[in-house]
Amino acid sequence: MSGLSSLGMTASFSYDPHVAELVPAPFAHLLRRMLREAEREQKVFDLPDRRFWRGSPDLDLSVRVHGRRVANPAGPAAGPHGQMAQNVLLSWLAGGRFIELKTVQVNDRLTVPRPCIDMETVGYNVEWSQELRLAESLREYVKGSMLIDVARAEGLLGRPDDPSRDEPVLDLSVGYDLAGVRSAAVRSWIAAMKDARAEVEGLRREIPDELRRLRDLGFRAALSDQVTLSTFHGCPADEIEAMAVFLMEEMGLHVTVKLNPTLLGKEAVDGLLHDVLGYREVETRAEDFDGDLQWGPALEMTDRLAERARALGRELRLKLSNTLVVRNHRRVFPAGEPVMYLSGAPLHVITLSLVERVRRARPGVPLSFSAGVDNRNFPDCVALALAPVTVCTDLLKPGGYARLPRYLENLEERMRGLGVRTVGDYVAAAALDASQAAARAAADPRYRAGSLRPPRKIGRRLVLFDCLSCDKCLPACPNDANFVFETEPLSREYESFRVAGGRAVPVSGGRFELRERRQFGTFQDFCNDCGNCDTFCPEDGGPYLQKPRFYGTLETFGRRSEGDGFCVERRGRVAVMWGRLRGASYRLEVDPDTDQAVFSDGRVTVELRHRERTPVGASVAPDAPEGHTLDVGAYLAMAALLDGVLDSRRANPVSA
Ligand code: SF4
Ligand code: SF4
Repeated sequence: MSGLSSLGMTASFSYDPHVAELVPAPFAHLLRRMLREAEREQKVFDLPDRRFWRGSPDLDLSVRVHGRRVANPAGPAAGPHGQMAQNVLLSWLAGGRFIELKTVQVNDRLTVPRPCIDMETVGYNVEWSQELRLAESLREYVKGSMLIDVARAEGLLGRPDDPSRDEPVLDLSVGYDLAGVRSAAVRSWIAAMKDARAEVEGLRREIPDELRRLRDLGFRAALSDQVTLSTFHGCPADEIEAMAVFLMEEMGLHVTVKLNPTLLGKEAVDGLLHDVLGYREVETRAEDFDGDLQWGPALEMTDRLAERARALGRELRLKLSNTLVVRNHRRVFPAGEPVMYLSGAPLHVITLSLVERVRRARPGVPLSFSAGVDNRNFPDCVALALAPVTVCTDLLKPGGYARLPRYLENLEERMRGLGVRTVGDYVAAAALDASQAAARAAADPRYRAGSLRPPRKIGRRLVLFDCLSCDKCLPACPNDANFVFETEPLSREYESFRVAGGRAVPVSGGRFELRERRQFGTFQDFCNDCGNCDTFCPEDGGPYLQKPRFYGTLETFGRRSEGDGFCVERRGRVAVMWGRLRGASYRLEVDPDTDQAVFSDGRVTVELRHRERTPVGASVAPDAPEGHTLDVGAYLAMAALLDGVLDSRRANPVSA
């Protein structure tokens, strides 16, 4: 047995699905961590700088979207990779230049079932719009944009800033019904994203003194003039149209309308899913097709909206496609969820068929694409003049954001192979049409059922310390909530202290074992219990549930009172750590200058020489019951965690 399991101290955690809440980090913390990591560890938010996308000066990957030049057509689709400020920066570092921000809506107090992402094979989810309050989303998106501005100004890509390759475009996403989109809250949210000067100035004031050189940066404040409209399943055509008109006319935005794959019709979708691709266990429901936008009304709506957009000097695009609603047949999501949303390989084939059909019917309508995109099919999507081509499912697989640069490298390779410099010339030279692409994808075995194997499990259960150290949980988290830290291995028998006759007397405690130098933790404020790191961890139990969970503040630590967890605060040079382990609460205070540690559960307090982990005295509170024991094993665990996360050689969300 390893670590605390030998003490019976595995992190036992029964979680409440209604409690997991994302808590944004202060701007100063994000800035400090980003620049420290870049300087000391050649990475930013755990993305190694060798995986940053820099682009090749001899090729121009730019495309035009809504009349504006976008440095390349790639980026994260509105989803988990466009929610927190660090996600926005990570998407940009990895090469995303068209960044679709997570959809916001007026109802910003949603309860999303947990786990909400199932990437074991093709990709399913039950999460949809932002989990933050509207005001928090605004702040996160502005922070994300400002982090990109800082990264550019500080030369984090390792070369001078080049606007032709580095300028990002942020795409807003709003939903889901007319009343919500027209509400005062969503209107003022959009207005604040169009002109974010007030938010930018507020955040500028939060730049810490040691980074005062950044206070004079010309941060972008006009963050976006475009929006993608997301609608509920079953939203009537006239309501979709009214929302798009409102966004164009009253909010002055270019609009992309995201369409559902149900537009293809149940027969065609089932034919592809079951007969061509072999996903026989995946079941669609007639009511989802019957209630959704139908083909004829969709074309009529598109014609009217395109005309309206032209008259207003804006551009209408269609986005193909949303995820496909299917019956929940797996055991990952709560059984009470009747449906889930399919993405990944099968959606790619289905959506290419939809592209083909829309292109035939309305060849002049510009199309964005997002459905099962990966590095191999990205160049084909670009060859079809689809732009932007955005991705979500593939970035949730091992490697995370680091998978994105390969998309662009493959596109560059294709362009070089065809002897072209620009995407326009590439589209012409590739001469790929949508029917060829759809037929080719339908015939490609890699999109078929059975081609994706579930991640391998080794039949061992995670505990607080030590694991396979495979690192897979780090990039699998879209929020960068998991992190690595280093500890000194330790294996020893220890004594605990028991209350006897009003005194603390040493008694045999047990054996403490910590074998590995590299340890893994979860920063709970960034974790929404989506479950994705559990899918890819070779051990059982879920890193986010079994590894030490660190909270950013005492407030968030206290808010979630069940389960093990830790919170660290620095008071000058002194570090204070609160911990919950096996249902007991502890406080540890360490002064590195005197090497003194004070560890207490409120009843027994022990003083120790911290570096040696040696007790030098113990005292008992007046109300401590006879026989009560302070477990010094808990001190050894917390001491290892504290020293590990505060190690100045590494930046992490706790020490930022
Ligand atoms: S730590 Fe795991 S469960 Fe938490 S947000 Fe990240 S991937 Fe999801
Ligand atoms: S917790 Fe799991 S995924 Fe993370 S390093 Fe350990 S074994 Fe690998």
